[in-house]
Amino acid sequence: MSECTHDCSSCSSNCSQRSRESFLAALNPQSSVKKVYAVMSGKGGVGKSLVTSILAVLAQRSGKHAAILDADITGPSIPKAFNIHERAVSTDEGLIPATSKSGIDVMSLNLLLENETDPVIWRGPVIAGAVKQFWTDVIWKDVDYMFVDMPPGTGDVPLTVFQSLPVDGIIIVTSPQELVSMIVEKAVHMADMMNIPVVGIVENMSYFECPDCGKKHSIFGESHIDELAAKFKIPSVSKIPIDSSLAQKVDAGQIELFDGGWLDSLSSTL
Ligand code: ADP
Repeated sequence: MSECTHDCSSCSSNCSQRSRESFLAALNPQSSVKKVYAVMSGKGGVGKSLVTSILAVLAQRSGKHAAILDADITGPSIPKAFNIHERAVSTDEGLIPATSKSGIDVMSLNLLLENETDPVIWRGPVIAGAVKQFWTDVIWKDVDYMFVDMPPGTGDVPLTVFQSLPVDGIIIVTSPQELVSMIVEKAVHMADMMNIPVVGIVENMSYFECPDCGKKHSIFGESHIDELAAKFKIPSVSKIPIDSSLAQKVDAGQIELFDGGWLDSLSSTL
């Protein structure tokens, strides 16, 4: 078999690339999205939305146009971090995403709810359908980098995202308290099955840096993330400390003002 050129139209081979392409959902005709990265975690509360937000802010700061597709339907925290409270506008052409202060486009189910505190009591396939519609029905204008904030775990919605969206890479977020090795292994296997590379792993709440002496304390024990990354050949490892100012910025809807270079190296590889 000749080497893959990633152009299925001129090749008859039935490889995994082709089977993935046959599931891909079409974008709205007015949309253009150059790169798509999915941000995953094993469970909720580890900082997946924070990492998604920081990566979008870094891309936007570098002069690119960033967007966030909030696929964490039942726990959407992206609009709050960017202080977005208005409802999305629907037109004949499609749904218009909300735009953050610095120009990041955001679509989240919270922007479609009558009341943003309403709970979403939907079954998996309905949620997966809504996420797919965020890709097909929203007008994503001239987006260079889209970051998808995935729901925790490896269930229905991640599967739909990986099948329907042309995801270029996966970023795994963990925290030191978790059964990290099992979570990473599951995510890596899912990525392998979908033929999508894991481009980075982020250990959030990795350590606490003493504001007086600068010493780093591993509050939750020593990190094993570097060994895991080496084992699974994940090219980029990042660590974010426990930082109360980060939590305050998220709470105040000011994540665009965050200060810290923890994800600079990962961001520069995307
Ligand atoms: P997930 O998306 O994984 O559910 P979030 O990103 O919403 O998690 O983070 C959960 C909570 O923890 C949020 O209130 C967030 O502000 C806080 N948080 C996340 N990472 C940090 C950190 N490194 N330092 C301090 N607070 C953090």
